[in-house]
Amino acid sequence: MSREKLYGWGRTAPSVADVLEPTAEEVTGLLRTSTHVLSRGLGRSYGDAAQLAGGLVLRNSAMTVMDEIAPDGSVWVDAGVTIDDVIRVGLPLGWFVPVTPGTRQVSIGGAIAADVHGKNHHVDGSFGHHVRSLVLATPTGTITCGPTERAELFWATVGGMGLTGVVLRAQIQLLAVTSDKVVVDTTRFANLEAVMHEMQTGDHRYRYSVAWVDCMTTGSAMGRAILTRGDHAEGTGERHSPRDAKIGVPFSAPSGLLNSLSIRAFNELWFRMAPKQRLGEEQSIGAFFHPLDGVRDWNRLYGRRGFVQYQFAVPDSASETVVEAIKLLAESRVPSFLAVLKRFGAGTPGPLSFPMPGWTLALDLPVGPAALPGVLDQLDTLVLAAGGRVYLAKDARLDPATFRAMYPRFEELLHIKHQIDPTTVITSDLARRLELIRK
Ligand SMILES: Cc1cc2nc3c(=O)[nH]c(=O)nc-3n(C[C@H](O)[C@H](O)[C@H](O)COP(=O)(O)OP(=O)(O)OC[C@H]3O[C@@H](n4cnc5c(N)ncnc54)[C@H](O)[C@@H]3O)c2cc1C
Repeated sequence: MSREKLYGWGRTAPSVADVLEPTAEEVTGLLRTSTHVLSRGLGRSYGDAAQLAGGLVLRNSAMTVMDEIAPDGSVWVDAGVTIDDVIRVGLPLGWFVPVTPGTRQVSIGGAIAADVHGKNHHVDGSFGHHVRSLVLATPTGTITCGPTERAELFWATVGGMGLTGVVLRAQIQLLAVTSDKVVVDTTRFANLEAVMHEMQTGDHRYRYSVAWVDCMTTGSAMGRAILTRGDHAEGTGERHSPRDAKIGVPFSAPSGLLNSLSIRAFNELWFRMAPKQRLGEEQSIGAFFHPLDGVRDWNRLYGRRGFVQYQFAVPDSASETVVEAIKLLAESRVPSFLAVLKRFGAGTPGPLSFPMPGWTLALDLPVGPAALPGVLDQLDTLVLAAGGRVYLAKDARLDPATFRAMYPRFEELLHIKHQIDPTTVITSDLARRLELIRK
């Protein structure tokens, strides 16, 4: 056991815990004998979801067995297997992960607990929609559940931020592909209204869609955007796995390196580099899905103070909220890297499910500007008024009252949790901060 300072990817609010890397067999015993426990994957959640101050954190990293992929594309994997591992093994055999977030460096345990989404939510839903079954260790025993077996517990675990137990293994349904390429259409839009209209009316023609929005331009160019949409290419040749990152950031950059000026310059360059329109371009899986994985530890570029990622979902009826949020940022002059705008389909039946039919916008905001906390509070108010919510896997700062208003079904999670964890062994910094769990 080691005592470690654990960070989220945003590096804003670390805490110290005892850390173990147990096998699946050891997890069961540890849950019975410990007072406060939480699982952790690769620490790619941005805030404090994978931290537990003063408790015992069980890293997934010793649970790494991946079974052979069945002829129907289903596969049993341990919770510590990563999306990268699944792609590496699956792609040469013609199988791809059904949902991938913007990085491959995510464990299956973390993907289930946050119920991660990709650029295909409007077509394929979130990760949990492709989990057939999972094995969950709880303080009162090990339980197998799935969408048709103990479904309540299953959906509380999918998106439950690790609070129902420790996922040991899961059976995932993979997606059949014939190529390691994606055929991509890229179009540049002069403003937000134009890109949102195109996404609303045209995204159904593509499996994958994402828009990069410039949050630093005002006036008629407010929210200018680059929309990239694509589908898996058809092919007959060999399929190659994505390459590892070639470069890394060895130490934290000076705070303030990423300021209004440098971010504005980057955004400008990015727009100028994008074609007005390019259709049918073949891109590799890595370039299309995980461009940030090309640089290891890129989060250190934000300096010691770190950064906040603020991601929200709002229903279609509140499309105007997306416009207001970007206007607020552009006018506040709080620097923000290109924001990511995607369409969402329906969420899961889970009490903490994040997606809802409509929009999701993710903003990367360096910590530092004095105006930032106020702007984030204003964003909360906008999102809440629109019937929307903030993504817990990215959150580092919501307060309990706002959380409750955004996730009014949270008590259903507590009810299910009480049946399997009656003395509340499993908790996290996030659960304590949101007063989801008081222990
Ligand atoms: C560059 C980047 C891009 C991203 N893009 C997206 C995106 O497009 N879409 C998206 O949805 N997310 C995205 N994310 C967020 C990321 O996918 C999630 O936060 C994911 O949960 C991280 O997985 P992890 O293995 O690092 O888990 P951690 O961050 O270590 O943990 C996340 C949560 O999972 C729980 N957990 C971990 N293992 C288990 C287990 N075995 N059993 C039960 N609970 C467990 C933890 O307790 C914690 O609550 C991105 C993150 C980064 C850094």
